[in-house]
Amino acid sequence: MKISLMKKLSIIFTLVVLSAIILTSIISNLTVGQKFRDYLTDEQKTKLNNAIEIINNSFTVNDNNTKINIDEIERYATMQQLYIEIKDLDNNTIYSSQTSHLKYRSQKRSMKGFMMRSFSEEDLGKYIENKYSLTSDGKKLGTIIIGYFGSPSLSSDSLIFINTLNHSFILSAIVALILGLIVSIIISKQFSKPLVKITQTANKMRDGDLEVRSEVKTNTKEIVDLSNSINYLADTLKKQESLRKKLTSDMAHELRTPLTTLKTHVEAFMDGVFEPNKERLEIFYEEIERLIKMINNLRNLAKLEETNLNLNKSKVNISDELNKIIENFMPLYKKKNYELYSRISPNIHALVDKDKFTQIMNNIILNSYKYLKPMGEVTVSLNSDNKNIIIKVIDTGIGISKKDIPYIFERFYRSDASRSKNTGGSGIGLTITKAFVLAHGGKIYVNSELDVGSIFTVELPKNL
Ligand code: ADP
Repeated sequence: MKISLMKKLSIIFTLVVLSAIILTSIISNLTVGQKFRDYLTDEQKTKLNNAIEIINNSFTVNDNNTKINIDEIERYATMQQLYIEIKDLDNNTIYSSQTSHLKYRSQKRSMKGFMMRSFSEEDLGKYIENKYSLTSDGKKLGTIIIGYFGSPSLSSDSLIFINTLNHSFILSAIVALILGLIVSIIISKQFSKPLVKITQTANKMRDGDLEVRSEVKTNTKEIVDLSNSINYLADTLKKQESLRKKLTSDMAHELRTPLTTLKTHVEAFMDGVFEPNKERLEIFYEEIERLIKMINNLRNLAKLEETNLNLNKSKVNISDELNKIIENFMPLYKKKNYELYSRISPNIHALVDKDKFTQIMNNIILNSYKYLKPMGEVTVSLNSDNKNIIIKVIDTGIGISKKDIPYIFERFYRSDASRSKNTGGSGIGLTITKAFVLAHGGKIYVNSELDVGSIFTVELPKNL
């Protein structure tokens, strides 16, 4: 089930606010209630002690005549909501506050009106009657019976207090809920508005409009990042599209040239204009080779795009391997009077896929060869630090302009300068090279100046 961001945030906010309020009210009810009960137990004790003291003091014994100060006992009983009964030694009632526990029951009922529902009958406490002895000057004169609603009953005042506390909790819950809802709507709008905009941009891009860019007004870092990523994606897709378009026309051109040559020659053979001698067949062969190379490159690229690269790594003596590669290139270079130098530190090892490593180096050294100027020089160097091996291929070739440098590793990209050199490249070699380097966890980069030369650097982790 899909829920909008606004709904989700509002629900979360409401739940959080509600649970916070419920939790706070439960905790404070418990703690406040307990404090009241402790307080009341103490109060009750003092009340009873005072009552006994007052009753004892109200008795004066003169020549076997007993006098009681009833007024004071009466006042205290009413004031403290106590039932007081005094009996003599023969169990005759001398005094009764006349307010039996039944009267307190009715008081109890009126108190219940103030109570919050959560307080049950039990909370009022049970009616308790205790007996104490009535003494004067250490002589037992009778019995005092005191009745009261025992702890933990809460007095009406404390119940009112707790009730008010609960009311304020409910009120603050309502206010917090309303505030929470308003805040959640504002916040979710802040989030959802730019997200909706970004989605609209992405949808337009999906429909083929690669000119569109997402412009969101927000200072939320993640959303700004997302917007930038979408714009970057649009840029990349646009570049890719133009590169693909360029490639189609390039490929058409590149394929047409050898095919036209072949066709003209075959026509000439058929018309009997030329004899198919060895020299002419060699031209055929070269053109066919070029076609095969281009098609192989395309096939490699297709493979590269459809599967993840599986590396077959083993410990390789990179120094030896590089020397071999350079050795293989020597005749090609010599043929054109180019120089190929090697500055290889001996016995540098790394854990690499040997075939892929050879392809990486072949591509870079072949490029340097392709884009060299007359009497050009190429130097291949190998060094290492603790973690990486560092290979540099330095050439005195046509160089790459600043505007082209960021694109040369993109598939199908070819600089204008290299195009005019007519090397028959297809702009795929460096894409494959970079993919192989990255698969090894390494990096490849170029420093270059137009008309001066280029330095291609490959760094691969030794992984030993
Ligand atoms: P290509 O088959 O066209 O050589 P690459 O992917 O190998 O394709 O290279 C992409 C582009 O990078 C080349 O077309 C060329 O413009 C530029 N390039 C690569 N290596 C060099 C170099 N050593 N000197 C100058 N330009 C280079």
